[in-house]
Amino acid sequence: MNSQLSTLNSQLSTNTTILVLNCGSSSVKFKIFKFPEEKVLLKGIVERIGATDSIVRIEDEKRVTNIPDHHQAILVILDKIKNLNIEIDGIGHRVVHGGEYNKSMIINEDVKRTIKKMFEIAPLHNPYNYEGIIACEKTLPGKKQVAVFDTSYFAELPDYAYLYGISYKYYKKYGIRKYGFHGTSHRYVSMEAAKILGEDFKKLKIISCHLGAGSSITATKDGKAIETSMGFTPLEGLIMATRCGDIDPAVPLFIMTKEELSPSKINVILNKQSGIYGVSGISGDFRDILKEMKEGNYRAKLAFKMFCYRVKKYIGSYYAILGGLDVLIFTAGIGENVPLVREEITRNLEHLGIEIDHRKNRNPKNYIISKETSKCKVLVIPTNEELMIARETKNLISSS
Ligand code: ADP
Repeated sequence: MNSQLSTLNSQLSTNTTILVLNCGSSSVKFKIFKFPEEKVLLKGIVERIGATDSIVRIEDEKRVTNIPDHHQAILVILDKIKNLNIEIDGIGHRVVHGGEYNKSMIINEDVKRTIKKMFEIAPLHNPYNYEGIIACEKTLPGKKQVAVFDTSYFAELPDYAYLYGISYKYYKKYGIRKYGFHGTSHRYVSMEAAKILGEDFKKLKIISCHLGAGSSITATKDGKAIETSMGFTPLEGLIMATRCGDIDPAVPLFIMTKEELSPSKINVILNKQSGIYGVSGISGDFRDILKEMKEGNYRAKLAFKMFCYRVKKYIGSYYAILGGLDVLIFTAGIGENVPLVREEITRNLEHLGIEIDHRKNRNPKNYIISKETSKCKVLVIPTNEELMIARETKNLISSS
């Protein structure tokens, strides 16, 4: 490495500013982190992109305007950054599907091709993530961009875990396998847990429960994910706000035949009209479910029970494949905010070494909610995917 480059790299690792972008179908969320403090300099969101009354929220400022596309949304964000004299060193993008990439990647033509190839499998996410990358190429030319994939934490699951029990030819022909999602969150909270406990991440057996509108659960051993509940798409696994999770594949076929439904109609039913919403008939939001439970609503109680029961079943099966358990983590909207869910899931799991302290569970101030005597430590850790993306981006651009 020449001396100029090494000076630049050491400057980057000591003082770096990273823009993190999460481009969804109708919104762009952003956060700017300053390293080494990992301080958030600015954050905001542009919502309702494509509508005439798009909303721009940056810190406390809110205005309604017309933002026709992602390119324009990013221009608005960059304008604000320029006005505040913030110099960006690199951009980290949340990209949902990275195919079989097992790590974050500096974006080049190959990486862009892979992201595009995955449009077919992740049509609701990858096209918008890609648009964000192209918009940044145009508006911040020459700045390094990094793709941090939701799937990469799971790319190295063993083949017997990621393959489905269908003809092998479909894996070869269409890449049908378990990809897993929420990987950035599972990795972040698992690494944080090791830090909090003062343990070596690479020596722990961890189960992380990401329970939000979308929910998934992951088993991590020796620093690597070995199993996860979401699959070829984010529909598999736990019962979610509006997604059904695991189901006998004959059920949708039966309903399609009975009600003469197209594949796209059944897709809507399984993704948007099922889960907590479908069972309760009330809402997919746990705040509404908890309220209705207090009123004695049977179907709200049933949805709650089914949600917790499914998580518990997964914990048992992951305990078996891990061969024990050191750490159980709860994160995301429900995992972080609903003590009753954590209590219900961990009830009667003393035989697995899981004992929660009910007082700590009600008010998890210092992350740990298990009893001193609990063999397995139970933690509540707020997820921070943006920080994980910023760290990955900073590390990659510093070492490239
Ligand atoms: P996602 O990122 O998948 O959109 P989040 O992790 O933000 O979802 O979780 C959102 C969900 O978390 C809400 O739909 C709601 O069910 C639940 N949630 C968030 N805050 C609370 C709270 N204070 N009490 C009960 N449920 C909550």
